[in-house]
Amino acid sequence: DPKDRILNFEEVPLGYNEIEAQQEALRCIDCKNKPCVAGCPVGIDIPAFLKLVGEKNFEGALKKIKEKNFLPAICGRVCPQEDQCEMVCTLNKPDKGREPGGVGRVERFLGDYAMEHNLDIIPEIAEPTGKTVAIIGSGPAGLTAASDMVQKGHDVTVFEALHKPGGVLFYGIPQFRLPKEILLREVQGLEKMGVKFVMNYPVGKAESLDSIRDRFDAVFIATGAGLPWFLGIPGENLNGVYSANEFLTRVNLMGGYKFPDNSDTPIKKIKRIAVIGAGNTAMDSARTAQRLQPEVVYLVYRRSRLEMPARIEEIHHAEEEGIDFNLLHSPIEIVDDGKGAVGAILCQEMELGEPDDSGRRRPVPIEGKVREFAVDTVVIAIGQGPNPLLSADGPELERNERKGTLVINEEMQTSFENVFAGGDIVTGGATVILAMGQGRVAADAMHRYLMTGEAKAPAGDDGEVCPNLT
Ligand code: FAD
Ligand code: SF4
Repeated sequence: DPKDRILNFEEVPLGYNEIEAQQEALRCIDCKNKPCVAGCPVGIDIPAFLKLVGEKNFEGALKKIKEKNFLPAICGRVCPQEDQCEMVCTLNKPDKGREPGGVGRVERFLGDYAMEHNLDIIPEIAEPTGKTVAIIGSGPAGLTAASDMVQKGHDVTVFEALHKPGGVLFYGIPQFRLPKEILLREVQGLEKMGVKFVMNYPVGKAESLDSIRDRFDAVFIATGAGLPWFLGIPGENLNGVYSANEFLTRVNLMGGYKFPDNSDTPIKKIKRIAVIGAGNTAMDSARTAQRLQPEVVYLVYRRSRLEMPARIEEIHHAEEEGIDFNLLHSPIEIVDDGKGAVGAILCQEMELGEPDDSGRRRPVPIEGKVREFAVDTVVIAIGQGPNPLLSADGPELERNERKGTLVINEEMQTSFENVFAGGDIVTGGATVILAMGQGRVAADAMHRYLMTGEAKAPAGDDGEVCPNLT
């Protein structure tokens, strides 16, 4: 019940049991073209694993998924399947009342089944190559590259700036959407495979990139897009304004909701809060705020519902949990309460005009219509850019000047021959599965580079290719 669940941080969707998973898997008709496989950014053989689940061969199904994706319990929960494999599924005919196969929910079941039954499928590790690899950043891109490189026989060390591994999976996505135990278990699996983790180690501050390049044969930069964007409106420096990153980090990573008894990190005692934005980060912030039990959580977004970038499931859960949606409202000023803190937020009411460059209808101000929301806290969740910490140290790394993302070639090599990069630091804020896909492609290229001196795949061998990466 939404009224109960907003009183705690426990996971919201409960997942399938064995029978439900089998029933759902058996809905797949193993259709001729199997569009779901091309719809998956890492090309999982979806009908094959669904068939095995239908036959109750859960271990076989898990092995099939793990050929392409080593984090099924995580991807089953957070991947936007409704825009990928499930969207293109042949069964997806809403006009005929038919739903697509529940690929993500079956995937999640398998990941959970593996944990419940201690089915640690530790892949084979190749003979040691004597080569060393440094991975900078422990988000999904870094973890995937670490897993692949250690399996190929290399000596892998992951450097992470924070005290917990996982990147956004740990500090951003809340416990009620992705229980942290799942992530930590996956990381333990990597440690068992021989990956070393060095935490609290911001490369660029603790050690320069040049020094890391000297110490390791190859380097993979996967530092993500952790630099929050702001609105650039008056009042953004007032007390009580948080970036979504800070807000979520305080609560999720540092346990601010348990302050002072079980956490040293405070979070403001909130009465009335406005969250600005409508992506996953905004939904996570609004739903996290609701669990701090304020009087009201407003969600403020300048476009309409149709343009909201968050997953449908997240929007649905946020509405169920009582978030007050204010669409077609654009913040223009955060008002001082007279003591240097947030007292209110002023929003311009908007209507939709002609489509803009993104193809979405442009929000246009309605003359003279400004609304004031009395709030004491504002969370800005309008997106984030590449993390600048490491690039500030290595200015010679080629970057996209406008976006600040790292520039790579087809082999995912940066402007330094032995330095590769992938994930959000290259694409800008994207998705978990795309970051993982890039980690895998980069690992393949790094392996070739380490073994042959050439990152490019030989003619006739395309190497690891992720279908939807380009
Ligand atoms: P990250 O996950 O950002 O990890 C980068 C890591 O590098 C971090 O741990 C960081 O501390 C570390 N780092 C940075 N600089 C340094 C340095 N100099 N030295 C050492 N370490 C460093 N995607 C989905 O598919 N589904 C979702 O539901 C979803 N929800 C999201 C919710 C939120 C709140 C956010 C912010 C994003 C969400 N995303 C979601 C997007 C997704 O999480 C990211 O696309 C993905 O995590 C990117 O992975 P990455 O490995 O490139 O980087
Ligand atoms: Fe099965 Fe749907 Fe994939 Fe066809 S598209 S193989 S029906 S999951």
